[in-house]
Amino acid sequence: MRPVDGRFGSGPSKVRSEAVAALAAEADDFLGTSHRQDTVKLVVAALRNGLLEMFDAPDGYQILMGNGGATLFWDAATFHLIENSAQFLVAGEFGSKFAKAATLAPHLGDQHIVEGDPGTAPSLIANPEVDAYCYTHNETSTATMFPVVRPEGGEGLTLVDATSAAGGLRFNAANSDVYYFAPQKCFSSDGGLWIALCSPAAMDRINSLAATDRWVPEILNLKTAMDNSLKDQTYNTPALATIYLALKYTEWVNENGGLNFAAGRSEQSSKIMYDWADASDYVTPFVQNVENRSHVNATIDLDDSIDADTVVAVLRANGILDTGGYRKLGRNQMRISMMPGIDPSDIEALTHCIDHVAAAMRG
Ligand SMILES: *Cc1c(COP(=O)(O)O)cnc(C)c1O
Repeated sequence: MRPVDGRFGSGPSKVRSEAVAALAAEADDFLGTSHRQDTVKLVVAALRNGLLEMFDAPDGYQILMGNGGATLFWDAATFHLIENSAQFLVAGEFGSKFAKAATLAPHLGDQHIVEGDPGTAPSLIANPEVDAYCYTHNETSTATMFPVVRPEGGEGLTLVDATSAAGGLRFNAANSDVYYFAPQKCFSSDGGLWIALCSPAAMDRINSLAATDRWVPEILNLKTAMDNSLKDQTYNTPALATIYLALKYTEWVNENGGLNFAAGRSEQSSKIMYDWADASDYVTPFVQNVENRSHVNATIDLDDSIDADTVVAVLRANGILDTGGYRKLGRNQMRISMMPGIDPSDIEALTHCIDHVAAAMRG
């Protein structure tokens, strides 16, 4: 009855065994070699080109990358992407963290926060005072999808945190100026790297802010990151395995039909998940609005008579990992990844396992 693979965490998320095997096979010629030489630079180049293909990027868009993951990118963005004031859509943990970083940055003006309840997706409001609009494509903490759109009638860059969405959700790249993520979620790789699909307008902003006298720590300098990325390098030493695994995911997706293939797998999994929840008498999807229910991870509330922590612990004892809800939400909830690397048949098996445990608890 158990899933073939027991990894259902929303981040770090399942790393495909095929990618790990490929890394092991090539390790002796790759790991432990210089990131300034062709062996590694060609992998970086293949990743950058493969991502432009996967995202169907408009002309002139480029892939930039650097060390530190999405969290570091927020701080970098406060230096070289936000000129003075940005608007933030906040309805969960990750959206709120970027808003906080900008609010605390002493070199920026007042920030504008549009807040919504957890599990909702508030909308952008055009505002001539802001020079950037910031939101998550998938708020991982609550499993809520936001549409990748520009504000109607507004100007300014759109900065989209796509950490758990990139490579798993459909979007129109022309609606984002910076679509950034870390590869330990849908990309089935490891953490520590940030990757950003940047429009020409975003790169213009980086160039113009880097030319001002605004001081920036070098590790957060996006102009430095850009100059290195365009040469298929990173400013300082990256984790080579992370880059390699991200490329393997990119190749797997592109060889099978691109984002349509990857998003299709998550859509299949999410249909299984939400159909099961709808039919169940003890499970309710946390996100009310069907359109905002994430395809790449799910939050499901359990009836009070069935303690979610107990279900999660029993699953863990049986090799089914990381299905616990997001702590800060404080609900009787499970959170389950449905990222493309996870087989829809394993999502199906997981629902049977949850039913099995719940039935035993009800006695
Ligand atoms: C996981 C996650 C982050 C944080 O990523 P790190 O690589 O740990 O910095 C940021 N935003 C979203 C939406 C996430 O899911």
